[in-house]
Amino acid sequence: MKTCITCGMPLEGEHANDFGMELPEGPVCKFDSENGKLKSGDEIFEGGVVFFTQSAADGDRSLGERLTRKNMKALPYWQAHPFAKLDGPEATDEEFNAAMAKL
Ligand SMILES: [Zn+2]
Repeated sequence: MKTCITCGMPLEGEHANDFGMELPEGPVCKFDSENGKLKSGDEIFEGGVVFFTQSAADGDRSLGERLTRKNMKALPYWQAHPFAKLDGPEATDEEFNAAMAKL
């Protein structure tokens, strides 16, 4: 399945209109890009925290941050382009799976 290389969201079916831009490494969603440019790691991280906090963590921002870190660190793009905010506590597999089930 076609997914965003910087946040992992699907870019097919009901999400086909969420495509933003194409990088040499693959497609990026519209939430992670602006005016044809990739947002910074910090901006994409913050977007992930807001999303996970609201959608999967019942407003618990510290859990939202840990979920975002686990999600982004699993993506090859961020393994190749690490940034400071990725260093820190991560959600456990159990927390992550429970969060994914709420999306
Ligand atoms: Zn994305």
